[in-house]
Amino acid sequence: MIRLHPIPDVHLACPLCQAPLASRGWYMPGMRCLADLACTACNRTFYGDLPSSHGLFFPMLLDPQNGHVHNPHGAQFAWFADWLATGYAARQQGAPDIAVEARRPLRRPLVLNCLDARYGHALLKLLNAEYHVNHDGDFDLLVLVPKCLRWMVPANVAEVWAIDVPLHNGCAWHDGLAKRLHERLQDQSAAWLSLALPHPPPDAVQIESFTHVPPFDFSTWGVVIGQPRLTLIWREERDRYWTGGAPAGIKQALRSQLGRAVRSRDPRAAQTLAFARLCAVLRERLPGADLAVAGLGRAGDAPDGVADLRAETVDAAREQAWCRRYADSHVVIGVHGSNMLLPSAHAGAVVEMVPPASWRNVMQDILLPEPDARRLALRCRLLPVATAPEGVAEVVVDLVSHLALAAINLSREWSTHEAHRPDPYAILRRRQAVGQGRKTGGGAS
Ligand SMILES: [Zn+2]
Repeated sequence: MIRLHPIPDVHLACPLCQAPLASRGWYMPGMRCLADLACTACNRTFYGDLPSSHGLFFPMLLDPQNGHVHNPHGAQFAWFADWLATGYAARQQGAPDIAVEARRPLRRPLVLNCLDARYGHALLKLLNAEYHVNHDGDFDLLVLVPKCLRWMVPANVAEVWAIDVPLHNGCAWHDGLAKRLHERLQDQSAAWLSLALPHPPPDAVQIESFTHVPPFDFSTWGVVIGQPRLTLIWREERDRYWTGGAPAGIKQALRSQLGRAVRSRDPRAAQTLAFARLCAVLRERLPGADLAVAGLGRAGDAPDGVADLRAETVDAAREQAWCRRYADSHVVIGVHGSNMLLPSAHAGAVVEMVPPASWRNVMQDILLPEPDARRLALRCRLLPVATAPEGVAEVVVDLVSHLALAAINLSREWSTHEAHRPDPYAILRRRQAVGQGRKTGGGAS
């Protein structure tokens, strides 16, 4: 954490003359946690990102005179600069609707600001709450969340502000919100700001503290695998459809339904067909499989026998029900993105299709709580988004057939000299127990 109030800790240089900027105060009109800064040489003033969330990686400087955003850390972070410029240009004097829940007094306030224009960013920031609750017991956590994540704020937080700003307007700048926060903290001699790490380590997070849904118990994988539960994660978004690649051969492409859907530029229809084909292949290879499709989208056209849990709107009860299904799933299957955060946090394993532009961001959306690097690689399989349904099915079948034994062989628990020293035959018995469970379960061989 850093000192926020009354004067924040900040070390930034003037973008015009490079002299140090003096910190005069703080301003939090929305997702941005800003320092009020003045140049010690040229006297210009700026708002600068405090080292919190993405401000840790690439702090921007906003000139309030003209709204210009200085981005000293490179053009590839233009989105973070654009959000600041856009929010400031459309700044509003009032405050959004804020539902304040005060659970206990704020004696040493620690502010965790989870507001953002991206669902995934906001959720990942919220996961920082657990660290503070567990490690900073002397502080009283004040959490700012978008209203849609209110249900995930854990117990032991001192105060919750649920802000009614839709995610698509998440970079909005409300002077009224900044004013209310200042009023809330003005009587405090000091307050602190969470670093709100954008990528908290998944194995340090107990997801049930947030969702109240315990994740899949991986230790049971070997004995229940005969009837694997598989959940496909649906997402409808321009660059995140999985259409299973183009069918092989021009003639086939022209003839097939999938080919027609792709050619007709209807990616939703193409995804529906790709999911149907994947379900058909999985059914053929794993006759006992329990299949479902979950996520945001119109329900009704899932293949026969596949539980269609999709919905076009989501609330806490729906999202929690989805989490229960993820936690019940051996494998969740979907396209890279924030839609995979909660599925991967709860499920036993993940098969993820990655669009070309997303390879640089892989693992940002994976919250499998697996601390062992080799087991994490076993439990999380990444494929190009162009992979055909047959190729995806092959990986899923391999997972449910072989992961149990592979995870024993490669685990740190079973691959050190010390582990085997007391009883070199213990691993044999463990493998046999898991293998027996797999056989008696049937269907996944
Ligand atoms: Zn200057």
